[in-house]
Amino acid sequence: MFNLILFGPPGSGKGTQSEKIMAQYGLKHLSTGDLLRSEIANQTALGLEAKQFMDKGELVPDAVVIGMISSSIDSNESVKGFLFDGFPRTPAQAEALDNLLELKKAPISVMLALDVSEEELVKRLMKRGETSGRSDDTNEVVIRARISEYLNKTAAVADYYQQFDKVKMIKGEGSIDEIYQNLCLEIDKILN
Ligand code: ADP
Repeated sequence: MFNLILFGPPGSGKGTQSEKIMAQYGLKHLSTGDLLRSEIANQTALGLEAKQFMDKGELVPDAVVIGMISSSIDSNESVKGFLFDGFPRTPAQAEALDNLLELKKAPISVMLALDVSEEELVKRLMKRGETSGRSDDTNEVVIRARISEYLNKTAAVADYYQQFDKVKMIKGEGSIDEIYQNLCLEIDKILN
């Protein structure tokens, strides 16, 4: 199995690049943001709980997302590998993920981290809000809160994987294709 984490702040392009990587390398895309939004759309108890945090731009509690990822991993038995997008977002989530993958004897191969300036992030998210239908993209206060959650809680996840020398930084500004080519270069280095 080839398991990869696409990492970066909100608006850094993880979703866009995930679609391309998944198509090219045949990985199963697991996005906690997408999974949570689908729980909300289906009005499940988990979705109702998560929504209260998401509407404020705060992280959903670790136990909720870890449980969700655990069942997603279990229900995808024979995949080539997973592309984790938006997860792990705290060091506790990273440790939980390592434990889950340990059971599969399939550790994380690499974390590809997209680097984008804060002003560019806000610009992109506000723009996405015009069409995405995501309420957390239309309010600048919520956008800033998400970025500050990232800086306060999520950035440390890169340090966690850095200790195992698994982090590759990729410039997340430029054209979508240019960024994608740079991501592919790193993936191919590992696969070949
Ligand atoms: P973005 O990264 O563009 O903000 P996501 O779709 O990844 O968007 O996440 C949207 C929201 O869902 C986050 O602001 C957060 O509230 C919640 N969320 C997603 N993934 C996680 C996670 N791994 N841990 C906690 N909360 C999460």
